[in-house]
Amino acid sequence: MIPLLDLKKQYAAIQKEADEAVTAVLSGGSYIMGENVRAFEKEFAAYLGVKHAVSAGNGTDALVIALEALGIGAGDEVITTPFTFFATAEAISQVGAVPVFADVRPDTYNLDETKIEAKITPRTKAILPVHIFGQCAEMEAICGIARRHGLRVIEDACQAAGSRYRGKMAGALADISCFSFFPTKNLGCAGDGGMLCTDSEELAIICRALRAHGSGEAGEQAWRLLRGEAVSGEALPAGDATVYQPKKYFNYLIGHNSRLDEVQAALLRVKLRHLPEYIESRQALAHRYDRELSGSALTLPAEAEGCSHAYHLYIVQSGERDRVTAALREAGVATGVYYPVPLHLQKCYQPLGYAEGSLPVAEYLSGRTFAIPLYPEMPKQDQDAVIAAVNRVCR
Ligand SMILES: *Cc1c(COP(=O)(O)O)cnc(C)c1O
Repeated sequence: MIPLLDLKKQYAAIQKEADEAVTAVLSGGSYIMGENVRAFEKEFAAYLGVKHAVSAGNGTDALVIALEALGIGAGDEVITTPFTFFATAEAISQVGAVPVFADVRPDTYNLDETKIEAKITPRTKAILPVHIFGQCAEMEAICGIARRHGLRVIEDACQAAGSRYRGKMAGALADISCFSFFPTKNLGCAGDGGMLCTDSEELAIICRALRAHGSGEAGEQAWRLLRGEAVSGEALPAGDATVYQPKKYFNYLIGHNSRLDEVQAALLRVKLRHLPEYIESRQALAHRYDRELSGSALTLPAEAEGCSHAYHLYIVQSGERDRVTAALREAGVATGVYYPVPLHLQKCYQPLGYAEGSLPVAEYLSGRTFAIPLYPEMPKQDQDAVIAAVNRVCR
């Protein structure tokens, strides 16, 4: 079976560097938020061209912390897309706010900028677009709407590390952005990991506090900041949590235990150096699919103008998805359905009261879209086999 992705191939290609980095952490004795975390935060911020990067335990926590840092909570509404991984909306619900779903565009599958304003109420606090499948949402229009209505914008860039929008990196396009380093993402570790990125020093200070129990120097700074006191502009140390620090036991905010560990950070530093080539490889494979599958009955991905799509997933559409995916499985080609149920129709969101038919584009796509195999190390002969099978099955 040709898999959707193969993480063992990525590890094999960087095994020597990765093993050295991980072994150095294991023998170094500093395991939680030490020098690799500090360095990775700096390197990731530089890669995106943002002022601050604050690591977290995973992408979902990063979203929760971003919302909390912006002061969003009970009684507030956040406008987002229904065509995404559940965590996007779950994070909004976790902080006590209400996700308000606006429909998506039929071409890019991203939040439809023309559907946002009708959803704004006096309770709306923020817009949370997702760069779905690795292509940036219409950020210029979205940020323009936010400015006009006094709203904040949070990017869910969990699928979009390495993606670009009008010359800027995904994750550098709004008030704050969130990344996931789940193993299957464009930049993945060997476990869970996440990151918050922002140009705002205030938001960075609050995020640093919230990710580790609101304690320590980060907690104290955030507390002073939130009370309107002057805070020194000095960058805060991440703090080596395996070393005794007296301030660790002074708590200033109700936060989380959501830290990146040194093993993951060391591995991510190695992989970040390879990220540009991973993205180029994803794009080359995607563009070959575009050419070779253009005669098939599938609807292929559309690239929006001014965007450099990172192809986290290569998503196609078919009106006969069940037949096509079964025939491809029969032919030895794995497929994956992203996403079969739009979030406004998930059982857990029944209390929000969305009817079937209320967000027709997301519902239409949920019945048609699926991914075919694509990952940076995909062998050419595997892609040849996928192309031949798809062209046979979807004439
Ligand atoms: C993966 C993902 C998340 C959650 O990230 P985790 O690290 O798994 O918590 C959130 N949003 C989107 C769009 C994702 O793809």
